[in-house]
Amino acid sequence: MKFDPDDAEVPEPVRRKHALAETRQVLAEASRAFSPWSCPSTAECCQLGKTGRPPWLWPTEWTLLLERLKRDLRPLPAVRADGGCPFLDPAGLRCTVYEDRPFGCRTFFCHRVKGPSAQPTFETNDLLHQLEGANLEWQEDAEPRPLPQWHAAALDPARG
Ligand code: SF4
Repeated sequence: MKFDPDDAEVPEPVRRKHALAETRQVLAEASRAFSPWSCPSTAECCQLGKTGRPPWLWPTEWTLLLERLKRDLRPLPAVRADGGCPFLDPAGLRCTVYEDRPFGCRTFFCHRVKGPSAQPTFETNDLLHQLEGANLEWQEDAEPRPLPQWHAAALDPARG
């Protein structure tokens, strides 16, 4: 279902629910599109301080991570001393929100990846547009931010 962006009649909770449902669908599609590729799961790409390439998340992606923590009765994880993603397990080897990981984590390519030579560029772009659209239908000023920025703002709401 698509909303008319000018339709102020659609209540915010309905917009939110729809945006989250669409985001889940986009994430599932991204995983399907990238299923022919695999990697040895070393979690090197999750060492965000070292790679300098954090995933950028739309609000719905961050919200899904918060909902995951809520379901698991887990608090927001602390900042890691090694600069790794805060959602890594204590050993820094495994994602603790894997099923709900953001788009960027599902589509990241590094030198260790194995699979077909051609990447699904067009499908990735289409899915990104869909993700953007879902967010803008929820919040007209929505924009993506790096994961550490969302995390810092959640730890200290004063930083917004
Ligand atoms: S959310 Fe998970 S997959 Fe993505 S960077 Fe963090 S630990 Fe890695």
